Amino acid sequence: MGSKEIGRRLFIKGASSAVLGLAVTPLCNMNLSFADAQKANSLEYRILGRTGLKVTAVSMGVMNCSDPSVLHRAFDLGINFYDTAHSYMGGRNEEMMGKAFRGKRDKVFIQTKFRVGTEKETRKSVETSLQRLQTDYVDVLLAHSLKKPDEVNDPALIRFLQAMKKEGKARFTGFSTHADMAPLLREAAKSSFHDVALTSYNFTHSNDLKEAVALARNSGIGIVAMKTQAGGYKASDMGGLSPHQAALKYVLLDQHVAVAVPGVTTIQQIEELAAVMGTALSRKDLDELRQYESHLQGRICTMCGGCIGECPHGVAHSDLLRAVMYRDGYKDDKLAREVLRTERALQQIKLCSDCSSCAITCSRGLDIHARLKEVHRMFS
Ligand code: SF4
Ligand code: SF4
Repeated sequence: MGSKEIGRRLFIKGASSAVLGLAVTPLCNMNLSFADAQKANSLEYRILGRTGLKVTAVSMGVMNCSDPSVLHRAFDLGINFYDTAHSYMGGRNEEMMGKAFRGKRDKVFIQTKFRVGTEKETRKSVETSLQRLQTDYVDVLLAHSLKKPDEVNDPALIRFLQAMKKEGKARFTGFSTHADMAPLLREAAKSSFHDVALTSYNFTHSNDLKEAVALARNSGIGIVAMKTQAGGYKASDMGGLSPHQAALKYVLLDQHVAVAVPGVTTIQQIEELAAVMGTALSRKDLDELRQYESHLQGRICTMCGGCIGECPHGVAHSDLLRAVMYRDGYKDDKLAREVLRTERALQQIKLCSDCSSCAITCSRGLDIHARLKEVHRMFS
């Protein structure tokens, strides 16, 4: 058994005994006997659950990228899985991907998403996505951002996804989730319907999510991890700290994850992250992650799931607080406003603005009420 495997075993042991309270993340008690980082200079492939697709473990979240040369560089590096959505950049993201991969369609796996609406709306959304992507089919089609477990196996959604497969518009189907991820994954694991789940997953999340990911994977679902960088802060905002390789290594240590799709906007970022494939988490990485965790404490909602469902008015506040992460971490005001533009978000902002104080306590030290006020200001 190599030192890297020993490192992985110890990691899993340390991580699984770590969550003693909601504020405690798996980092706190992690065993320090790690292998030193090894640069493998190679691609690492994993199988995406029951789809059988052989995907590069580090792939690309295209959401915020507007520069096709980044996609070309990712392709040249050998990365083969790309995640977008109908709504990203008002459709320009899919259009850019369609142009960038013209003539290369059979060499990449494309995953896109649609917002659930009426059958007519969702069908139109998928057909528009296919036109923008300049393809007859996508490899993975996901229902975008499901919120509640009962949405996962909704008969109308299942019928629609089955129809998309039958019509040849999607090879495989599933859903994405940003909030309350563990219950949704557990629900999905009860049936063999979904092929793929795209879930937020990073070092700030509790073992509850780790266990739900394992359960879903063991039921056959291919796990795609997003929000792997826990906020995307730049080194210049963190006194030179650059924990992004470490954050990605942490996620990929979980062998139940088939592929991570960190959001990438520059060639430098994709080169830095692709280099993680085939390397192990080192002591230095762990140290950087701990510093990063301190930086995030009280700053953004990392969607750790610790207070899901606590709002007495049913507000999914971590969904609203995602806008703060996009503004402060990604420095993308436009995207921040975009996530607040849905009818549901507007209703929730109204509920929060009518609330004199927030009933929720964030175990990660976030002043939720103050942050929700910022969301309200952003919106207005
Ligand atoms: S508000 Fe705090 S406890 Fe709640 S999900 Fe966000 S980081 Fe976790
Ligand atoms: S401010 Fe009020 S409505 Fe908004 S999340 Fe907090 S308790 Fe819920």
